[in-house]
Amino acid sequence: MKIFFLICGLHLSFLSAPTWATGGGSIVGNGGGLAEQNFIYAYNNLAHFYDLCWAHENECLNSTEEKKIFHLIRDSLSQEYKTTHQIQFLSGQKNPSFFFIDGQIRTAVTGDHVGDPIFINLDLIYQTNSRGEVIATDIGTALAILTHEMGHHHQMKDHLFLDLLGAKIHTFSLIKGETLKYDYFSNSLFETNTDLTIFASHSDITPGETDFRGPQSWLVLNDGHQIYDLNTSLNHLLYCPISNEKKDETLGYRLYQMQWRPTFTEKTDINGKIQREYTFQSSIYMNCQSSTDNYPTNDYQIILHFILEQRTISKNWFWTLTPELTRLEVIPKLRDTKKNIFTHFF
Ligand SMILES: [Zn+2]
Repeated sequence: MKIFFLICGLHLSFLSAPTWATGGGSIVGNGGGLAEQNFIYAYNNLAHFYDLCWAHENECLNSTEEKKIFHLIRDSLSQEYKTTHQIQFLSGQKNPSFFFIDGQIRTAVTGDHVGDPIFINLDLIYQTNSRGEVIATDIGTALAILTHEMGHHHQMKDHLFLDLLGAKIHTFSLIKGETLKYDYFSNSLFETNTDLTIFASHSDITPGETDFRGPQSWLVLNDGHQIYDLNTSLNHLLYCPISNEKKDETLGYRLYQMQWRPTFTEKTDINGKIQREYTFQSSIYMNCQSSTDNYPTNDYQIILHFILEQRTISKNWFWTLTPELTRLEVIPKLRDTKKNIFTHFF
């Protein structure tokens, strides 16, 4: 058992003086690679992922012990978040002794108190597959690893137990979520693939419930190189029109029937750069403050237009999002109100 004891739970006295990279911050353009962004996104959204498990606890977790540790982790989140830059990325090669414990290199290490920093081994969050492609640790795996580490903050020393707890919460978030990948296939050898995915998850709160406040759908776009949180912009741009001219606060919203439109368009801009436009559409229900106006329905459609350009990254061509060109259209489904077009989405 002793070997497992030291896999990733450490006393803080061990965690001193490495030359670590800074973590935390905004998930868009924070300078980190895709895996680091996935970790930060998972970290910033732990409460949301835990709420999904919490609402269906008997489906998500089995044993009393699992539920007990999960409750401790969930209830301590606000305390954990008080630590600035709690997630730290560190090169295992540059700090060989830091992650090398009992003859094994570890993915993550942390202390045994709430709020202790969690150090992620940069060397292990990118793997090269058999075709030589570099694969970044995804959000779900990051969620499982962070849950495991936070379990150590509650004096749980059993790493296998925490692996299982993290895996169950990860799996449950996948069951409750939707992964919408733009399915692109070309038989040309010279064509570079587009790697465009939206991962979404939704709460089970229905419009009649008083808890229908804020986003009830969480969305993140991945272009294969960066992830982009879509909620920040949606929270800011969606509003309930009372009439053509007036705006009203949107109390909450939920997306449904999401899909990529099957075709993309290609055009050349004035500088001769080829751009591709991909379109994502969804129905959206908005919970509006005024229930007494003359518009009985709050159903809209939103359309997101994403522009991708080819860029060279490490001597290879990739299609990557040009965030500043993203457009959002909000179209009333039944109301006779005009649609809104936002050209500055990010
Ligand atoms: Zn562990």
